[in-house]
Amino acid sequence: MKDFQVNCSSITVEDIFSDTSVDIRLILENCLNDRYLSTMDIEKLFLTTGKDKQAVLKIADFLRNKVNGNHVTFVVNRNINFTNVCYMGCKFCGFAKRANQLGAEWLSTDQVVKRAEEAWHRGATEVCIQGGLHPKLPSTYYRDILIAIKKVLPKMHIHAFSPFEIWYGAKKSRMSYADFLEDLKDCGLGSMPGTAAEILDTKIRKKLTKNKLSAEQWVEIITTAHQLGISSTATIMYGHIDAPKHWAIHLDTLRRIQVKTGGFTEFVPLSFVHYDSPLYLENPSLVRAGATDNEIELMHAVARIVLHGFIDNIQVSWTKLGAEKARNLLSMGVNDLGGTLMNESISRAAGSKNGQEITEAEMVKIIRSARKTPIRRDTLYRTLKTYNQEDTIDNSSPLVSRNGSNPLSFLN
Ligand code: SF4
Repeated sequence: MKDFQVNCSSITVEDIFSDTSVDIRLILENCLNDRYLSTMDIEKLFLTTGKDKQAVLKIADFLRNKVNGNHVTFVVNRNINFTNVCYMGCKFCGFAKRANQLGAEWLSTDQVVKRAEEAWHRGATEVCIQGGLHPKLPSTYYRDILIAIKKVLPKMHIHAFSPFEIWYGAKKSRMSYADFLEDLKDCGLGSMPGTAAEILDTKIRKKLTKNKLSAEQWVEIITTAHQLGISSTATIMYGHIDAPKHWAIHLDTLRRIQVKTGGFTEFVPLSFVHYDSPLYLENPSLVRAGATDNEIELMHAVARIVLHGFIDNIQVSWTKLGAEKARNLLSMGVNDLGGTLMNESISRAAGSKNGQEITEAEMVKIIRSARKTPIRRDTLYRTLKTYNQEDTIDNSSPLVSRNGSNPLSFLN
């Protein structure tokens, strides 16, 4: 086995593995030799502690550096959640409201377009559009939004509609998933968020979502989208009633889909936000209060290792973890900070206090504080701008006032 570089200093494999257990060393060496890790191997990596865990983090950082170099990417985008009305009753969800409930919202197509135009003028190249499954949503609503945005902003990339929304829209339209997706693609759909995956394990998923969208249906919809040329992200929601064996199965499922389609652009671990989640509030003794810091580190690092050669980009969600933890994960396998977002509402509705936006200038600062080179990318990971030290960066205020809070205070 060759020597390699971790954090720019020459370290030999023997250095990293000097105090590592034989079992974990073998698994990590298998990964470095491009061998497929079994779900049992993956679970073992999730359970590492002490020196074994340190070896996992270092190998993840090595693989990140091998694939992404010193670059860390982000996208300037805006989140548009067009309605929070939803009767699906997912137990973890703090976002959904009844139609007559205080704070219930449903944006018209014109309002969605206006938000997209504002985003474009603030430099966004992407709008990320998702919403609840409003019972009165016309079956044409999804295509109407796409057509209306593309009419005024033909170059805006529209990253929209989770597999749950595709399931709902196809059902309402009495169309197959493939026909429904193909129509959306023709109307301007650029790519899809791979949300609503939660945990792709039948038993756990049934408890979380009442099995409204089964793991099999999620896989079928995502696979169909990829086969039609609609790429997507891949996600996991962890830190509730789940365990490492479920994470291992989940990663293996994503890997299998990727082998078949090549359609995933990135993997985004989403740690469960418990504060205002009914799942937690109704069962505080049975449901965990989100992932621990140890689990968060291992989730990102193990994902990098398991998905190496399959999915090149591991994204951290700053809305779930905050800017400081997101920055720290840049040395544990992560190479992407996600979007500037402008309006974040889903994590906020579940009690997250990490704000609605991290501006372009702040993204650059965070990345530089990790001694990495900031890159602004488009949705499909094409480089739009590499930031050199001398560049002046648009320092505009966030779209929504923060009332004095500063997500970058940890850098002071
Ligand atoms: S997670 Fe989505 S589908 Fe489930 S209740 Fe919340 S808004 Fe509805």
